[in-house]
Amino acid sequence: MLDLTALAELLAQPKKIVITTHHKPDGDAMGSSLGLYNYLVQLGHHARVIAPTDYPDFLAWLPGNEEVIIYTENTEASAVLIAEADIIFCLDFNSLSRINQMGELVGASSAYKVMIDHHLEPQDFDDYRYWNINACATAQLVYTFIANELGHREYINKDVATCLYTGILTDSGSFRLPNTTSDVHRIVAELIDCGAVNWRIHELIYNSASENRLRFLGHCLANCLEILPEYNTAIIAVNKADLEKFDVNTGDTEGVVNYALSIASIKLGAFIVERKDMVKLSLRSKEEFPANEICKKYFNGGGHRNAAGGQSGESFEATVEKFKSILPEYKKLLIQ
Ligand code: 5GP
Ligand code: MN
Repeated sequence: MLDLTALAELLAQPKKIVITTHHKPDGDAMGSSLGLYNYLVQLGHHARVIAPTDYPDFLAWLPGNEEVIIYTENTEASAVLIAEADIIFCLDFNSLSRINQMGELVGASSAYKVMIDHHLEPQDFDDYRYWNINACATAQLVYTFIANELGHREYINKDVATCLYTGILTDSGSFRLPNTTSDVHRIVAELIDCGAVNWRIHELIYNSASENRLRFLGHCLANCLEILPEYNTAIIAVNKADLEKFDVNTGDTEGVVNYALSIASIKLGAFIVERKDMVKLSLRSKEEFPANEICKKYFNGGGHRNAAGGQSGESFEATVEKFKSILPEYKKLLIQ
């Protein structure tokens, strides 16, 4: 185990550092990873971000993106970096299963492992943990880790600030979710002072979709939305043929589930999608409803109370039916 002083001492000399994050990285995963990357390179470290899989194009403009290695496309180079690293930062995940095959390599590496994360129930694979489930984003924790714990506020330059702003923006649902506290707003104000151009980042993230993506969304809402009023639940279920028809790419499905929750009476929204190798579920809920409990108990997943995900090895149709069959168990909570 490491304490903060020992970690700060390690970071005082140039080190070989790998930063990694969960598979199918989102805005917070890439924003927090590249925010930390842009900080560490200023200190003279040899740092690389390794993403377990590809990620949406709307994140490709992030400063430092050109240096990111995608594990599935560069397995050998990634394995060497992981094996030779002095420190591995694990950002926005807390179980090695969330980084797929990379989990074994990270587990086997003799590097110090530093977890910075805000998900429930962390597993013990780390040597140092900076973890807080009340944080709205891992990027928020990266900010306080650099500025408060390491006392390096002056290293939050425009690139670091831009990446961290992106993580907080996306994981807080554009400053909308309950964990968007006044502290979050104060940090975001700091990030703008450090050079993050807030309106431009919103443009790049939210107004950069393809025509296909908008037509796909239209299709989801017009043809794939099912409301179950007796359970205050809305399901958007999309099969493989539709994904192909609309040429849906990584990231194009992001946010679709939120439309299910936009109906006033709906407490639980589900987006169920038939991917190549599995059926993936994204659940969103309002207030106290524990979406993560359903994912953990029935779909080999987890997440936060109001935003969780999981998967199923059963067929698409069977997964939709399984999801519906679970709802009676939660009826009391859903109709309160
Ligand atoms: P999304 O629905 O956007 O894919 O994921 C929402 C949240 O659910 C993520 O931030 C993550 O915490 C969690 N999540 C999604 N998929 C999985 C999964 O397969 N396993 C676990 N443990 N958590 C997941
Ligand atoms: Mn996150």
